Amino acid sequence: MDFASLTLCQPLLDSLDEIGYVTPTPIQAQAIPELIKGRDMLGCAQTGTGKTAAFALPILNAMAEDPWSGPRSIRVLMLCPTRELASQINDNIEQYAHYLDIRSMVMFGGVSQRPQEKILRRGVDILVATPGRLLDMIGQGYVDLSQVQFLVLDEADRMLDMGFIRDIRKIIAYIPENRQSLLFSATMPPSIVELSRDMLYDPVSVSITPESTTVEAIKQSLMFVMKSDKRGLLTHIIKEEQPEKVLVFSRTKHGCNRIVKQLGQDGIEALAIHGNKSQGAREKSLGRFRKGTLQVLVATDVASRGIDVSDISHVINLDLPNEPEVYVHRIGRTGRAGQGGIAIAFCDENEGEYLRGIEKLIRQDIPVDDNQPFHSENALSRKGNKAPKKQQNRGRRGGGRGQRRGGQGRGQNRGHGRRRNRR
Ligand code: AMP
Repeated sequence: MDFASLTLCQPLLDSLDEIGYVTPTPIQAQAIPELIKGRDMLGCAQTGTGKTAAFALPILNAMAEDPWSGPRSIRVLMLCPTRELASQINDNIEQYAHYLDIRSMVMFGGVSQRPQEKILRRGVDILVATPGRLLDMIGQGYVDLSQVQFLVLDEADRMLDMGFIRDIRKIIAYIPENRQSLLFSATMPPSIVELSRDMLYDPVSVSITPESTTVEAIKQSLMFVMKSDKRGLLTHIIKEEQPEKVLVFSRTKHGCNRIVKQLGQDGIEALAIHGNKSQGAREKSLGRFRKGTLQVLVATDVASRGIDVSDISHVINLDLPNEPEVYVHRIGRTGRAGQGGIAIAFCDENEGEYLRGIEKLIRQDIPVDDNQPFHSENALSRKGNKAPKKQQNRGRRGGGRGQRRGGQGRGQNRGHGRRRNRR
């Protein structure tokens, strides 16, 4: 199959040809024909599957076939959780729309609003935004969503995790109901299903690479280590294995900074990306990592979303995440595009419970690698233990499962009522 058989218009085919896309990825093959028909869509797909083109191409195609007469106004709104992802989506759109008279812009917080105001005043057709800044700018009267025909929510599960649900609902209220809506999410927890019921009309469902398949493509290993030895083990692995590109995960921003500092003391250059870093600093670090001039990037889960680096050789979980799905997201950063990747997880004396949750989710025991100098029988023996109370509480307070479940219950009732009214 090629893109021409998906009935995309010639200017799009020309730009795809230039970019070098020859064969549609499975999600593109599934999604594009349905979206061209005008259907709403609920897509279960991770970054790395080609989902950006899957939603952007049919929208651009529809816009090309039905050019707007009159002053430029926002016809497409794409919402996503992070600045990095928003920038990437916008970059992709600019590439795809190279031969079309379509202007897109990206909008996110943490940077001056002025340049964004200026672009808006000149007029844009497509707005790719994170919810917080968009809502601010709507409130200030800079953004008019009354002409929006296409709405895309990308990485909806992350947006919900980050607490954007209220903002999203407020934003949707500004958009005409007569629109085509698409919702993509890597996981489908009940809160997403509920949101989709509320915002999609008779959607087609597409689902690509169930997470277990992704997991299978990756060589995973587990190292039991005392918390105090994690730094030593990380340095050991990097010095021994000399991995080409390592993405190290830490649960907290503070943890990321500490790792970078400690690796520096051990003679290994590393940089961190997380929410407290400026946009410029994040882009610089990512750029170096992408080019291969930086071997080690340390990230929080939120910052790592949307890192479009295709050849990450190793993912190291310095801390185990307290939500098992996050482990799957993390290791999915390696082993992209069918290439094998290596994922190493450290498990200390306090993380046994998290490990059990992960192994239950992926339905396999991660092979233990005890052939390392910091192997701890003590940590291993505590695999069956519950996490200490302090950590459990911390998880909950940070928007853990207990809290969210309550929120979903309330949302469900509201959602059903709303949907009946809307349609
Ligand atoms: P995404 O899942 O949208 O982040 O895409 C992952 C990567 O695959 C990006 O670098 C895209 O440029 C690339 N890509 C998307 N579709 C195709 C395709 N049909 N052929 C080759 N590369 C693609």
